[in-house]
Amino acid sequence: HSAPSGDFGLIGLAVMGQNLILNAADHGFTVIAFNRTVSKVDRFLENEAKGKSIVGAHSIQEFVQKLKKPRRMMMLVMAGKPVDDFIELLLNEGGVEEGDIIIDGGNSHYPDTNRRTNYLKSKGIRFVGTGVSGGEEGARYGPSIMPGGNEEAWPYIKDVLQSIAAKSDGEPCCQWVGDEGSGHYVKMVHNGIEYGDMQLICEHLPVRRQFWVDLAFQAYDIMKRGLGLSNSEMGDVFDKWNHGVLDSFLIEITRDIMKFNDDDGTPLLEKILDSAGQKGTGKWTAINALDLGMPVTLIGEAVFARCLSSLKAERGRAAKILDGPTPKFEGDKQEFLDNLEQALYASKIISYAQGFMLIQNAAKQYSWKLNKPEIALMWRGGCIIRSVFLKDITSAYRSNPDLENLLFDDFFNKAIHKAQPGWRDVVSKCALWGIPTPAFSTALSFFDGYRAKDLPANLLQAQRDYFGAHTFRIKPEYASEKYPEGKDIHVNWTGRG
Ligand code: NAP
Repeated sequence: HSAPSGDFGLIGLAVMGQNLILNAADHGFTVIAFNRTVSKVDRFLENEAKGKSIVGAHSIQEFVQKLKKPRRMMMLVMAGKPVDDFIELLLNEGGVEEGDIIIDGGNSHYPDTNRRTNYLKSKGIRFVGTGVSGGEEGARYGPSIMPGGNEEAWPYIKDVLQSIAAKSDGEPCCQWVGDEGSGHYVKMVHNGIEYGDMQLICEHLPVRRQFWVDLAFQAYDIMKRGLGLSNSEMGDVFDKWNHGVLDSFLIEITRDIMKFNDDDGTPLLEKILDSAGQKGTGKWTAINALDLGMPVTLIGEAVFARCLSSLKAERGRAAKILDGPTPKFEGDKQEFLDNLEQALYASKIISYAQGFMLIQNAAKQYSWKLNKPEIALMWRGGCIIRSVFLKDITSAYRSNPDLENLLFDDFFNKAIHKAQPGWRDVVSKCALWGIPTPAFSTALSFFDGYRAKDLPANLLQAQRDYFGAHTFRIKPEYASEKYPEGKDIHVNWTGRG
C-alpha cells in the first residue's frame, strides 16, 4: 500500500458528482472517485477525468484507504435510501474511523439529515448535509453550497467547499449554515423561493400574449405603430429588466427563451406543453410552512399553480363552458410595463420576506443556531435564484442580524412603498381582464394583511366559540372583571342552556 494521496473523496458518478470532482480537481485537490456501478469509475477516468488529479477506487475499502485523515468524503447519490446504504457501507465495510467526515450533497429531506447527523455523531463520525444548487453547470464551475450538521467538521471542509463554490464579489457562496439538517432545510426553502420566482415571471406571459392578440385584432392603428408585443419584443422587455432591480439569472434566461426560435423561425416556447412538472422540494417547503404555521403564501400559490397547470385536459374541457371577460388594454403600454416591473419586484420582496420568516421560525422551533446574513450571501451566486437583489438582503441582515422581517429594513420598506401603486394597478387590471395572477395577488394580500393592525379574525373566534366552545380572548382595551385579559373566555351565545 502506498501512502494515501486523496484530499477529498466523492461517491456518485452521475452528472452532479462528476462535475463536482472536475471542479475540485481544477482547484488543486486530488480527488478519489467511487460509484456503486464500478464500471462507471473506469469510464470516467478514461474520459472526462483523464490527465487530471483524479484517482479511481474500485471498492469502498479502496476508496477509504486512498484518503488522507481525517477523511473528507462526499456523496452525490440519489436522495433517500441510497444515502443510508452508503453510510452503512462506509461504517461496516469501508473502515471509516473516528473524526472522519461524511458529507451528503444530494437533495435530502432535512429530517433525514437531522437523524443522520445525530446517528453518526454517536459513532464519532462527523456528518454534514449540504444543499448544492446550480445544476450541472454550477457543479462544474461553482455552485452555491449550503452546509449544515456537525459543526466540528467545518474547519476541515471549509477550504474544499469554499474553493469549489461560486464567488460573488470575491466572497464564496458557501458558509456554515447551522446545526443538524439546517443546510438541507435552507436549500429546501431556496427551492421553494425558486418556484415562487418562476411563477412570478410566468404570470407575465399571458398578459403579453393578450396584449399582442388584443392589439392585433382591435387596434390596427396602434398595431401599425408597433405596439403589439411579439415574443422577441417581450425578450427586449426582460432584457431591459435584467439591467434594473430585477437583474437575475431567471430574468436573463427568460429573455433568452423568448428569443429562442425553432427551425421554422417561430418561438419554440409557444410549442411547449403548458403542464408544469415538479420534483417536490417546493411542496416540502409549503408543507413545512403549514406545519410551522407560517404564512408562506407565495410559495404555496406557486406550487398550486403548477398543480392547476398540470390539469391540462380538464382545463381544455372547462375552457369550453366557463366564460370570462376578454382582456382589453387601454392606456400607455410603457407605463403598464413599468408597473409590471414594480409588481414583480414587490412580489419578490414579499416572497423572500416570507422565506426568511420561515427560516427564522424553523431555527426557533428546531433550536438551530443559524447564520442568517450568510444565507442570503450563499444564494447570491451559483444558484438558480441568484440575483442582484440578494446583495441587498445580505446587507439588510448584515447591518441587523436580528431583523424581525425584511419589510422592517429601510431599503426594502422604501422599495415596497415605491412599488405599491404599480403593483395594485397590475393586480386589479388582471382581475378585470380575467387573467390569473395567483402569485402577485397573494403577495399583495399578504402585504395588506401584514400591515393591518386589526384583522377580521375576531369574527372567526366568535364563530368557533359559538359552535364549538373553543373560547376566545378579549382585546386588552376591553378587559374587565367579566372579561379578564389573557384568559380563555366562553360565552353562551344563544341564551339556551
Ligand atoms: P441521480 O440521478 O440523482 O443519482 C445517481 C447516482 O446515485 C448514481 O451515482 C447512482 O449509482 C447512485 N444511486 C442510485 N441509486 C442507488 C442505490 N440504491 N444505491 C447506491 N447508489 C445509488 O444523480 P444526480 O442528478 O447527479 O444528483 C445527485 C444528487 O444531487 C441527488 O440527490 C440530486 O437530487 C442532487 N442534485 C441534483 C441537481 C441536478 O441539477 N441534477 C442539482 C442539485 C442537487 P449507479 O451509477 O450505480 O446507478
